[in-house]
Amino acid sequence: MNAQEIIDLEHENVLGVYGRPAFVLERGEGCTLYDTEGKAYLDCVAGIAVNALGYNDPGVNRAMQEAGATGMLHVSNLYTTAPQARLAALLCETSFADKVHFSLSGADANEGAFKFARRYAREHGHDEKYHILAFSNAFHGRLFGSLAATPRPKYQDPFLPLMPGVRFAEFNDIESARQQMDENVCAIIVEPIQGEGGIYPASQQFLQGLRELADEYDALLIFDEVQCGVGRTGHLWAYQGYGVEPDILTAAKPLAGGLPIGAILMRQKVADAMHPGDHASTFAGNPYTTHVAHHVVDRIADPAFLADVQAKGDLLVDLLEELNSPHILEVRGEGLMVGVQMDIDAAPIMSAAYDRGLLVLIAGPNVLRFVPPLVISEDEIKQAVATVGEILQEM
Ligand code: PLP
Repeated sequence: MNAQEIIDLEHENVLGVYGRPAFVLERGEGCTLYDTEGKAYLDCVAGIAVNALGYNDPGVNRAMQEAGATGMLHVSNLYTTAPQARLAALLCETSFADKVHFSLSGADANEGAFKFARRYAREHGHDEKYHILAFSNAFHGRLFGSLAATPRPKYQDPFLPLMPGVRFAEFNDIESARQQMDENVCAIIVEPIQGEGGIYPASQQFLQGLRELADEYDALLIFDEVQCGVGRTGHLWAYQGYGVEPDILTAAKPLAGGLPIGAILMRQKVADAMHPGDHASTFAGNPYTTHVAHHVVDRIADPAFLADVQAKGDLLVDLLEELNSPHILEVRGEGLMVGVQMDIDAAPIMSAAYDRGLLVLIAGPNVLRFVPPLVISEDEIKQAVATVGEILQEM
């Protein structure tokens, strides 16, 4: 089948909720994807901050072979397997957490976190303590609970009513958070760096203030690190760059190098409130995915790897700033999670980049987003920025 035939087949049979460009991706190598016509695309999207080790990575391939060789792609969570236990131990060793629960995606992890927070509050508070405080511009997922904490009418309105009990304050405004806080709030959820909302880092004071507010009201502080976690910022966990610890952290996207997985990391006091049967999933934490995830996290947790991410992130920011384009108002982010605030629509730049063999993302109407594989090279960063520079000059 040629590209057009595949696209026609897709249009006939796949639900049309994604707007896709007119090429068909076929294979990947390093930080490059190739379409069915053999055209190469330098990938600064990484499956939306997923493919941290790029494509066809020998270590990931080996881990997949090892996991596949057991013959156990899946066994039920009714039974113990070593890969799940090992991955949980690694996540605990490398974070604030005492316990981990696995899920299937970012949204699924946040749904679980909300349930855990309500369970904790029921054991320590009172029946009305079920409210969640979330923030303007946040993105926590598309399921009924996570969507309720994602204040976007376009995403929410067609599906109302959502999970009740979510209230909002202004991101990076601790006074606004304080005004929304009371003894009925069981959890505060925040992205340390907002991703879909446009790459907005939280300030240190804001996260510190939320920590204090949560403690004051015996609410749980949840950091949604689905996009900014697992090395993306040049710290294994974004919170480690802030020195403020949550009670629960949700992770997903890059955790298994491209296989679907989510994880809820928590303190012992949260774990103590959860009892057998309180939450479960058929597939989550299966031995295949968790074996591969262990390899991915182990590689990324290496301080030399993380320092390299930081250095390459600095280079990306510097080069984007050096473009000196009148359309660029600000370049912001942390590590290899970088947003370029434009005074024009970002979508046409993303489209023009396809023609030139570059994949970039947008984050909101005016922000161009770079979340490349963490293994991207300096030369590839230079190439990506040069391409964006050419497009901006033509505009
Ligand atoms: N939380 C954050 C911060 C995200 O960026 C995303 C996805 O972009 C999600 C949650 C939802 O993750 P998933 O698409 O895996 O459900």
